[in-house]
Amino acid sequence: MCLRIADSNLPISASKVHKAVRAAWKLWSSVALMKFRKRSRKEADIVISFHNGDHEDGSPFDGKGGILAHAFLPGSGIGGDVHFDAEEDWSFNSTGFNLFAVAAHEFGHAIGLSHSSDPGAIMYPAYNFASNYEPQLSFRDVKDIQHLYGISPGFASLFSKNPPPRTPDKCDPDLSFDAVTELQQEVLFFKDRFMWRKHPQFEETGITLISSLWADIIPPFLDAVYENRERNVNVFFKGHQYWMLKRQKLEEGFPRNISDLGFPSRIKSIDAALHFRNDHYTVFFTGHECWKYVLCYNLPQFFPYYQTHLI
Ligand SMILES: [Zn+2]
Ligand SMILES: [Zn+2]
Repeated sequence: MCLRIADSNLPISASKVHKAVRAAWKLWSSVALMKFRKRSRKEADIVISFHNGDHEDGSPFDGKGGILAHAFLPGSGIGGDVHFDAEEDWSFNSTGFNLFAVAAHEFGHAIGLSHSSDPGAIMYPAYNFASNYEPQLSFRDVKDIQHLYGISPGFASLFSKNPPPRTPDKCDPDLSFDAVTELQQEVLFFKDRFMWRKHPQFEETGITLISSLWADIIPPFLDAVYENRERNVNVFFKGHQYWMLKRQKLEEGFPRNISDLGFPSRIKSIDAALHFRNDHYTVFFTGHECWKYVLCYNLPQFFPYYQTHLI
């Protein structure tokens, strides 16, 4: 497949654009039987260009925000082409919109994929980039593109250790959760970089990415979460760090080390946490130990005690 980057109207340096584009097409060509070749001449299957507002293809851009880019399904003429809105604040990290993440999605269209209903898929129709998670094709993306093009010769060896991540399925009999918490009226179930939100007024328990609610704040693969409703906070634990959100906003100075809570240095992570609203204390589980955490005159006090005391 031939690909050309139109060098006019680039909002950022050409070398950076080329780098993001190369990384995005490599995602697809590493799993499916396809090769991309860069061309500088006019004819190419995929022409990548940046445009402002109306650019005469019937789908005008809308300035900052809103529509970021669009792509045309494979075909002659404009088919397979990818257009980016030149007025967006394009970036290579999590400020503004990440060009690599958007290009990876648009390339999926350019090579024949439509949107996926799997929130873990690159082809899910919502911008999602979190600096704590490098964009990669999900199991669904890989299956869909391999169905169209076949499997790349290096796929098995390349992905044997790290297979494309599957979005967890709530009907999987082997499903376990990383953490569970209340969040105001809802109950949240965390797994990998996803969460299910159970709202008392909705029958369906929807799955979504953690980053769709707290992009670049709360990391994926959490250890424990609890809600302290009197203080209006949710506390998230991963490894030796914890994050405190008040009314869904990160409190200043976080993430902090769990040793700041008073845990001895031998405690490297938390397995689970539970807050008892009526009795105003929190219980933490670490390995075979469990800890009762009470705020006494604003000083944390820890009472290690045996698990049997709880049951
Ligand atoms: Zn266009
Ligand atoms: Zn799309």
